[in-house]
Amino acid sequence: MLRKKPADSRFGFANSPRMWYNKRETKTNTHTRIMSKQYNVAIVGLGGMGNWHREKIAEIENIKVKGSFDINPERQKFAVEKGLLAYDSFEAVLADPEIDIVTCATPNDSHKEIIIRALRAGKCAITEKPATLCSADLAEMDAVAKETGNLFTVHQNRRWDEDFLTVKRLFDTRELGEVFHLESRVHGSRGLPGGWRSLPEQGGGMVLDWGVHLFDQLLMMVPGKIKRVHATCTHITNELVDDGFTAHLEFENGVTALVDVSGNNFIFRSLPRWLVFGRDGTATLELWSKNGTMTRITNWDKKDAIPIRTAAGLTKTMAPRTDDTIKTDPLVYETPDVRDFYRNIMSTLEGKTEPAVKIPEVARVMRLMEAVFESDRKRQVVEFE
Ligand code: NAD
Repeated sequence: MLRKKPADSRFGFANSPRMWYNKRETKTNTHTRIMSKQYNVAIVGLGGMGNWHREKIAEIENIKVKGSFDINPERQKFAVEKGLLAYDSFEAVLADPEIDIVTCATPNDSHKEIIIRALRAGKCAITEKPATLCSADLAEMDAVAKETGNLFTVHQNRRWDEDFLTVKRLFDTRELGEVFHLESRVHGSRGLPGGWRSLPEQGGGMVLDWGVHLFDQLLMMVPGKIKRVHATCTHITNELVDDGFTAHLEFENGVTALVDVSGNNFIFRSLPRWLVFGRDGTATLELWSKNGTMTRITNWDKKDAIPIRTAAGLTKTMAPRTDDTIKTDPLVYETPDVRDFYRNIMSTLEGKTEPAVKIPEVARVMRLMEAVFESDRKRQVVEFE
C-alpha cells in the first residue's frame, strides 16, 4: 500500500520526509526488505521525443508507460498501436491516480503550464529541455514544486553522452595536463527544422534547442563562475529565430570555452565535436562517432623543428612537432547509460538519492542562454555571475 502523503511535505534529499513516498514493505522469510514499486508514467506529447521516452522506459525495470496524451489525433492513434492508453485529455491524465510521473515532451512554450498542472495534481513532473522559455518562468515552476513537495526535474539527457563524459574525464583527471580551453561544437547542414522549432513564440531557435545541452555539459564540467559571455547568433535560413550561434565563455578560473552550433556547414565532418586543449596535450573527438584521439607531449625539452616553408617565408614556431616528442593514442570512451535518468528519478522518489538534474543547475543554464541573447542583441561582452 502507498502511504498517504503528509500535507506539509517538501521534496528533498536522502533521508528527507519523502522517504515515505511510494514505498512498499514486504516480508521475506527472515527479514523485512523494501521493494521498489512499479512506477507508471504518462507521456504528454507523443511526438519524436515523446516516443523516445516510450522506447527507453520500456527497457527499464519497475517503470512503465501506462498512457499518453497528444493533441494530434494521429499521435493518439499511434499510442494505441503501441499498446498505450490514449487519454482523451490532459485532465484525464492528471485524474488518473495510477500515474506517478508525467513526462512532458511537447513544444517548448507549453512545458510551463503542463508541468505546473502536473505538480499541482500530485505528480512527479519531468519536462523535456529547455525546461521553459526564460528563467522567470522556470522560477514559477520551481516555486510550485517546492509548494507542493512534488519532484520536478528536466530531461538533460546529454549529461549521459559518451563524448561529454569522456571529455569530462580528461578535464577532471588532467590526462592532458590542466585544461585551459574547450571547444564544443555541433554542426549540420539542414538549416533550422520547420514547424514550432522555427517560431520564436514557441521557443524555437538553436540556442534553446542545442545550446541548452552544450551549455549544460560545460557547466557540469568546469567549476566556478562564468565571468564573461560574448555571443553572436546567425540568421542564415531564418529571420525570426537564431539558426546557429557562437558563444565564448570566460570562467573565473581562467578556462575559456567556445560553444559553436551551425545548421549551415556542408563539410561538418572536418570539424570535431570537441577540442580539448590542455597544457601537455590536445584531444579531438569526432561528431556522431566514437573516434577520438589525444596527442600528448613526451619531451618538452627537445626543441628541434623542421621549418615550414611558404612562399611568404619560413616558420619554425608553427612547424609540427617531430614524432619523437609527442604520442597520439585513441581515446577510451566512457560508457554511460542514459536510462539512469529514469532510474535516478525512481531512487529520488524513494528518498534514496538526489535528483541527477537539479533545478538550480537548469536555472543557471537558462540565465546563461539569456546572457547569450543579450550579448548578441547588444553586440557586447556581457558580465555574468
Ligand atoms: P514534435 O513536434 O516531434 O512532438 C511534439 C508533440 O507534442 C506533437 O506530437 C504534438 O502534437 C504534441 N503537442 C503539442 N502541444 C501539445 C499539448 N499542449 N498537449 C499534448 N500534446 C501536444 O517535437 P519533439 O522533437 O518531440 O520535441 C518535443 C520536446 O522534446 C521539445 O521540448 C524538444 O526541445 C524536446 N527534445 C529533446 C531532445 C533531447 O535530446 N532531450 C531531443 C528532441 C526534442
